[in-house]
Amino acid sequence: MSAVLEVKSLSKRFGGLVATNDVSFKTEPGEIVGLIGPNGAGKSTLFNLITGTIRPSSGRVEFHGKDITGCSPEQVAQRGLIRTFQSATVFKDKTVRENLRIGMQFNRLGGPLQLLDRSRVRVFRRDSERIANELLEFVALEPYASRPAGELPYGAQKTLGVAMALAAEPKQLLMDEPAAGLNPVETEQMGHLIERIRSEHHIDVVLVEHDMAMVTSICDRIIVINRGEIIAAGTPEEIQRHPEVIEAYLGVNLELD
Ligand code: ADP
Ligand code: MG
Repeated sequence: MSAVLEVKSLSKRFGGLVATNDVSFKTEPGEIVGLIGPNGAGKSTLFNLITGTIRPSSGRVEFHGKDITGCSPEQVAQRGLIRTFQSATVFKDKTVRENLRIGMQFNRLGGPLQLLDRSRVRVFRRDSERIANELLEFVALEPYASRPAGELPYGAQKTLGVAMALAAEPKQLLMDEPAAGLNPVETEQMGHLIERIRSEHHIDVVLVEHDMAMVTSICDRIIVINRGEIIAAGTPEEIQRHPEVIEAYLGVNLELD
């Protein structure tokens, strides 16, 4: 099977600090992969390198067999690699429906509406209405459709952020701490939503997450990073038994399970 995302010997130095050190991994089609590690381990830096927010010092990133190293975030997104952020990043003054339209525009049109010919805009308007309705139903945000996003409870704003990412038609979603700031019930709902994104939308997922219960319940495979390096990779069961992982990261969390 050919890889979806392939990171090859990726390194990033910030001055004297090696934030990412010779990191290599692949994801396979259909997988949900978890990326865990203590604070400052280099998880967000890895996402930034993959999605073109920052450039690697060395190494390569391939997506569906194509080299995307050094591509801009917009170019990466247009190839179907879409990212969600740790905090809710919605347009608070715009309605939920308008937010979804913005998410769609990102990938479908490749530019602002003003620059496109009228027939394409007309098709987009018609399609975007239908797709917005489908997405609202998928994430159960219909009751909020006409409300400004800023008025939604925080959990619903994060869900909207996920729906906006889906509106951009990703092939793979990179999610940075989807459960951060959510209560236990919302966390469980978010985990369930991620599983449905895979099973119903057939989108691959890589997630950075601190909530170990969520990671171990929804991920097929977990990659553990510490001080910029991969220290372990395996199934959730293997990771929970790994001595170095328990020492570096899981020690505190295991007591909670
Ligand atoms: P994590 O997401 O795992 O908590 P980060 O990737 O945010 O960790 O950070 C990894 C290390 O790189 C930290 O020591 C952080 O301070 C450093 N770092 C991240 N971004 C920058 C930057 N733009 N400039 C300098 N140092 C950075
Ligand atoms: Mg981070």
